[in-house]
Amino acid sequence: MDEEIADMDKIRMKIFSLGDYSVNCYLLFYRDSKEAIIIDAPGGIEKVLKFANDNDLKLSAFVLTHGHFDHICGLNSSTLPFYIYPEDEQFLYNPKLNLSSLVGKPLKVKKKPLLLSEGVVKVGPFEIEVLHTPGHTPGSVSLRLKNWLFCGDTLFFNSVGRTDFAYCSHERLIDSIKRKILSLDGGVSVFPGHGPSTTVKREKENNRFFI
Ligand SMILES: [Zn+2]
Repeated sequence: MDEEIADMDKIRMKIFSLGDYSVNCYLLFYRDSKEAIIIDAPGGIEKVLKFANDNDLKLSAFVLTHGHFDHICGLNSSTLPFYIYPEDEQFLYNPKLNLSSLVGKPLKVKKKPLLLSEGVVKVGPFEIEVLHTPGHTPGSVSLRLKNWLFCGDTLFFNSVGRTDFAYCSHERLIDSIKRKILSLDGGVSVFPGHGPSTTVKREKENNRFFI
């Protein structure tokens, strides 16, 4: 189900749940200038691109939370540039690392990414704070835009990301969440890669991995 969230400082967000794995894909755009970015690029991305086109949005890039296939398999359907954290770059070209070989649909992204680094990155008019939150993958990031945090498969509503794949680490995951996410203001809204949104306060008080 698609959902639209209330505007924040002239920025509007539309949430798409896409593909066989119901990946949350977040389209962010300025209501006035129509400049836009997309968080993650799942299969079925054509629906987001069509919405952007129908609404005259000016897309500048995808920003990826990590390199697993369900979050990147839309990249080959678009010519937009995309950003990923360096430690997940190899996932783009390696079906074993991006886990697409597990489902029998080996995926190799054909384009080179732009690389994120920790701190503030400017993508179009958006100033995004990149928090390196390894654990689910070595290059997983959480992306903070003002009071919104897009955390990929690191933290979920009342749960945390899986760490039973190669190059995962449950210890690193828990450490990342504690140090980089739960230390943020409690009012920050958290938008995961799958499932419902939550808040820092809610997860601090109720998430079974942290109480
Ligand atoms: Zn993942």
